[in-house]
Amino acid sequence: MNRTIPMLEQTKVLEGKDYREVLRREMDSGKIPISLGKNCPVKCEFCYEIDHSYRETLEPPMTTQGDWDFIMNYLNTKTTNPLQYWCLGGNEYMEWTDLFLHPKAMEWVEDFLTYTDKKIQFFTVGFVHVPKIHQLAERYPGRINFELSVITLGEYRKQLMPHAPSFKHLMKVLDGPAVSSANFYSFDEHTMSKDAETISKINQKCVLWMGCLTPVRGLKDSTSDLMRQGRRHLGVEAERIYDAGLPNLTTIHTEAYVTAFLNRKRIVSLFDSLELEKKDSVVMAGSVYKILNIFRKKRAKFLYVPNAMLGGDSDCTVLLTFEDIAKRLTNEKTIHIPKSVMESGRGGQIDITGVTLDEFVKKTKVKVKVLHKINTKFANTRLYRSGSLNNFVEDYVRNPVAQSYETLSLSA
Ligand code: SF4
Repeated sequence: MNRTIPMLEQTKVLEGKDYREVLRREMDSGKIPISLGKNCPVKCEFCYEIDHSYRETLEPPMTTQGDWDFIMNYLNTKTTNPLQYWCLGGNEYMEWTDLFLHPKAMEWVEDFLTYTDKKIQFFTVGFVHVPKIHQLAERYPGRINFELSVITLGEYRKQLMPHAPSFKHLMKVLDGPAVSSANFYSFDEHTMSKDAETISKINQKCVLWMGCLTPVRGLKDSTSDLMRQGRRHLGVEAERIYDAGLPNLTTIHTEAYVTAFLNRKRIVSLFDSLELEKKDSVVMAGSVYKILNIFRKKRAKFLYVPNAMLGGDSDCTVLLTFEDIAKRLTNEKTIHIPKSVMESGRGGQIDITGVTLDEFVKKTKVKVKVLHKINTKFANTRLYRSGSLNNFVEDYVRNPVAQSYETLSLSA
């Protein structure tokens, strides 16, 4: 029997604050927070920011030269970590947009590279200036990580991103040293595989980052249906690319259920190292729940928590919220929660919506033991290691155990 669900309150940090507080907070978490001062005008149908009401945001006005000087001065007070890439654009306290639509973006990227010794990464659907972007990549080797969001080059492009740059422009962006990785997805027969061949003909060095887009709340049903259709074709599409033997590095990282399966040994050994007892209740999202139910059945009470806040087909322990967990509680007195749930960019022990661990404990009256070993670093680094397309084909698509894993019910 479910207990009454308490109202968990977000810790509001921006109320009554100047927008420069947003800039400072974003920079403190590794972002270069320039702003368009409005919603993203590209209006892609799959955009994960269509409904971002789950977190507190405050959109700064369109960044002025004065704001940029403030940003540069603040950034230059930060120690340089040679491994760190500073991300162009804030997304914790402000809304994610395609910042290359800002008329000064190219100039400011050049400023950043000239007047700091830091590295930069950016994501764009392709609004960069050619040949300028290639010149910058040549002049500052190793300091730019450019992730080009191709999404799809085929017939679904018009439907999904009618205001994005043209195919012709994307080919020019790809033709040179600038792009580090191109991401694009399966939607149907001969979508992802065809795009892989097209891109590889122009650029053999960029990483081909592939998979599917995940439906989340706020998307149109037709868009979610198309994403799910792509998922049904993912295996065959990946095999086509596998057989083509392209020279590029090819990866599948977007599918939580695949990532969990390919890293099953690592997940199981980490679970074993926690030394939990059978009576212990452990919080996890769907895919990890399935893995542990197959390989460590009844070794603890696995509390499967759906990603209700993000909705759609979300399946990610890192993105669970305290409210998601509260909704799943029945008669537990103590639960174990992975540290990754409370490691959002909003600060210590806070989930992605801004709810603190203390608030969760106070309102639910449940005792929480934090599983420190299951942290974001583990999820981001260890779990990504098995993500090559070859590994996906050999250890997932062609592995009969994976078929039974995929059909395993979440209520098992
Ligand atoms: S360009 Fe990026 S931020 Fe803008 S609507 Fe498309 S996906 Fe969203």
